[in-house]
Amino acid sequence: MSNDTGTLYIVATPIGNLEDISYRAVRLLAAVDLIAAEDTRHSRKLLQHYAISTRLTSLHEHNERSKAATLVRLLLAGKCIALISDAGTPLISDPGLYFVRAAQLAGVHVVPVPGPCAAIAALSVAGLPSDRFSFEGFPPNRAAARAAFLRQLSREPRTLIFFESPHRIVRSLEAMVAAFGGERPAALARELTKVFETIRRSTLGELREWVRQQPVSAVAGEFVVLVQGVPAKAPAVDVDEAQRVLRVLLANLPLKQAVALTAQITGHKRRALYQEALALRAGKLS
Ligand code: SAM
Repeated sequence: MSNDTGTLYIVATPIGNLEDISYRAVRLLAAVDLIAAEDTRHSRKLLQHYAISTRLTSLHEHNERSKAATLVRLLLAGKCIALISDAGTPLISDPGLYFVRAAQLAGVHVVPVPGPCAAIAALSVAGLPSDRFSFEGFPPNRAAARAAFLRQLSREPRTLIFFESPHRIVRSLEAMVAAFGGERPAALARELTKVFETIRRSTLGELREWVRQQPVSAVAGEFVVLVQGVPAKAPAVDVDEAQRVLRVLLANLPLKQAVALTAQITGHKRRALYQEALALRAGKLS
């Protein structure tokens, strides 16, 4: 595979079940000149499963900068490279941003090869609003930073999606209960696509208790935590004020216009205002 300048493919790989990979991803991984992988030993299992013998090189958070320079040179020399991470979509809480930017700056064509992502897979089964969401990655490790980070999100209206590791899941859920309240609807997705896949929808308080009660072995694995956002509140309606505005406008405007303007000004329901306006006109209210 060679042309004037090579192409960099950002390839999503399974998050557990090895069958969760696209035909295109398998074809490209077999066809490129080189695969840059976060952990070459880990990725070799996937490649063996699909009888792919493409050469692997490592690219992880500690060598990304120096490695990117070498790989961009290869791309400019016409080689095609695929970037993969240990699981899911590269760059989503995974290395690759520096490499992608370096390749783009050098004028290399960077192409996504989409596929699994734990955050999106979890959202698809969480039963929480999915029209708008905010991916928040891993909450900070230290307690004070984590509490401040969560506090900032406590009024967020969109569904929140967090990654969490097994040894921090209990502390993280405790901090979420403290920041968002135990009654907030939430979901936990554990070991998606794997043998012990568990998806639990409940409140944050119940999920915290459930995880606390699990035997240590069951808390192993990988977690996505999803928390429902805060519904936008309808503006509080001051009934007396709505009536006062309606009276003033009714004295000066046709009924329909007075009702429409009062609804606009006060946020009060148009239908209720209309009834009230009729009663006022009929002299039933003084
Ligand atoms: N890039 C990956 C993706 O697109 O899903 C995410 C990589 S991030 C380093 C790893 C985190 O993703 C885990 O700690 C966990 O929160 C989540 N994760 C990955 N695989 C998962 C799975 N099978 N089930 C649940 N969560 C998973």
